[in-house]
Amino acid sequence: MLDQETIDRLRELDADGHPVLSVYVGLRPEVGTLRELPARLKDLLDPLTETTESMAREDRMSLREDVRAVLGMTGRIAEDLGRGVAIFRCHAAGIDEYVSLPAPVRDRAIVESTPYLRPLEAMLSHLRRYGVVVVDRRKADIFRFYQGELEAWEEMAEEEIRKDNFAGWYGLEEHRVRNHADEVLQRHYRAVAARLAELWRSDDGFDLLIVGGHREHVDGLLEHLHPELRPLVAGTFTIDPRTMTPAMVEEAAEGVAAEWERRVAKEEVERLLDTARSGGEAVLGLAEVVPRVNQRAVDLLVVQAQTTRPGYRCRGCGYLALEADGVCPVCGGAMEQVPDVIDAVTEAVVAAGGSVHHVLGETDLAPYEVGAFLRFNIPTELTR
Ligand SMILES: [Zn+2]
Repeated sequence: MLDQETIDRLRELDADGHPVLSVYVGLRPEVGTLRELPARLKDLLDPLTETTESMAREDRMSLREDVRAVLGMTGRIAEDLGRGVAIFRCHAAGIDEYVSLPAPVRDRAIVESTPYLRPLEAMLSHLRRYGVVVVDRRKADIFRFYQGELEAWEEMAEEEIRKDNFAGWYGLEEHRVRNHADEVLQRHYRAVAARLAELWRSDDGFDLLIVGGHREHVDGLLEHLHPELRPLVAGTFTIDPRTMTPAMVEEAAEGVAAEWERRVAKEEVERLLDTARSGGEAVLGLAEVVPRVNQRAVDLLVVQAQTTRPGYRCRGCGYLALEADGVCPVCGGAMEQVPDVIDAVTEAVVAAGGSVHHVLGETDLAPYEVGAFLRFNIPTELTR
């Protein structure tokens, strides 16, 4: 499981000056992903052999061993189909780490003196905690769903309707009994809704809510949900609470969560494309985005890139450029190459108080790789 402790532990790894190979592989669930895997890994890792030319012999041998090892891992990587993996290796320092990721990731292979952890941090900040409730006539089962895993949270059982309540009703019209049963049911929905609101407010609450059960009870609970929780409903599913298993609930929750994330990403990308194409405060593509990052004008960066692309960053002031053009035009400092300009852009946006969304599914942003909503839009020709 990806968590802050894992990231902190990886950050502490000491390669003693030897090169660390960091490899990220995104594994979309589409047919063909597995067949393409060996070739993709080879394409990703082959360019690294060029970078070994200038290394000391021991480092070169170490990196070659790491590349060989990763190429031999296709079987293990295949087990994470539909998600992604991160691998960190340094043969010379005995580092051999494999992290299964809860979602697809952009492919990257990077050699630096430390593990390359920014994609893990970005992913962790993106993960949503779901509350899942399966509501029935007399009870409700509440679960947490996080990183694809379901965990029981609590069970709520409505007070049994005592027999003596009914005893005195003998002979009364049937509809009065029905009315009573209906009142009990409404009270049950209200109790579940109130408990969900409490859990939501608790320290380890949830970001989004998924509601399952028979349709009538799902609708009944939704009607009684607190107004603050209504916008947090990611979706619903139908299940028979008497025959359900945790695995069935997990599968249903996974489907609802994936659909919610797809829908939200699609809407955001549509809004971005519309805004940019109508001349509003948004731009598309790295060539347009990078100058806006340098102006600190990016409010929200949206990323849907599949691969890494090197770029340049000023050692002095952090100015970013896609091409190396001598010294930094802002401060005259030296420009250094960064292995992935999109990660450098991400970091700069966050440092300037903006936020970053990573689009995981297929959207119309793919040909542009990145886009940005801006705080203000000064044509870049005026500021170059
Ligand atoms: Zn500079």
